[in-house]
Amino acid sequence: MEFFKAEKVTDRIYRISGIITEYMYLVVGTDQALLIDTGCGAGDIHAFVRTLTDLPLTVVLTHGHYDHAGGAGRFPEVWLDSRELEPTPIHYLKNATYEKLKSGHPTLRLEDMTPDAGETATKDPSGAAICTTSVPVTFRPLTPGKLFALGGITAEAIPCPGHTPGTYCILLVEERLLLTGDACHSISYLFFDNALTIEEYRQNLIALNRQKDRWDSLLLSHPIATAPKTMIDEVIHLCDQILAGTTDEIPWPWQDKPVYIAKAIDDRMLRQDGVYGNIIFRKDKLRKHM
Ligand SMILES: [Zn+2]
Repeated sequence: MEFFKAEKVTDRIYRISGIITEYMYLVVGTDQALLIDTGCGAGDIHAFVRTLTDLPLTVVLTHGHYDHAGGAGRFPEVWLDSRELEPTPIHYLKNATYEKLKSGHPTLRLEDMTPDAGETATKDPSGAAICTTSVPVTFRPLTPGKLFALGGITAEAIPCPGHTPGTYCILLVEERLLLTGDACHSISYLFFDNALTIEEYRQNLIALNRQKDRWDSLLLSHPIATAPKTMIDEVIHLCDQILAGTTDEIPWPWQDKPVYIAKAIDDRMLRQDGVYGNIIFRKDKLRKHM
């Protein structure tokens, strides 16, 4: 089966799509290349990237969820906020991810999946022998302001915790594009157990937006590929509305927890009122001191 597709965003940036339409970005400078996120782990993302560039390659993960970190086991070293090494139910574990994906992709085989990255696998708190193979991957600690100078183009790591404690955006400085990843997008998930409260998330978005003169538009990881920079303002405004209790609060199916989507969506997962920003949230994660 075909695992990846690539399209050019600009001369120096590729958008790579995996089998669950999760977007990774490959930035190619004159000296080095940077892969931002590694997809859900189906297929060999490292081999695919090598069809696009043969420059020395660095890999950075915006956060630790399976659909971003799943391919990390194909690389010797990746950059990631160290808080993202704490296991969560949606961390990448090869067998668990395969179980999630196989009904939608009947030709997918377990051997197509990326081996578990050793450090994440050994930290699995359940103690279950989930991993059949694991490979050593060095996780290098991503920190605020970390620069990746690629030759003619620079990527800068800007933290925006909320979706998870160690979620980062990546600014492609010379291209004036901000990859917000899962930090802020058209359907921001703020309901996982390790998500921050809406109040804290709002503060972090406001801090991010203080730099908004540095970018012209946004790149996203899913379900749509791009958004205008005003989406961050929309999501800040939506946080205010959630805290005031004035959103649509439509129940959203998620395990046994009461979870709500703030604004009604259409079948493309976009807001019916045409505004980009949306949030799925829990009422026990509104304010830090409740
Ligand atoms: Zn995520």
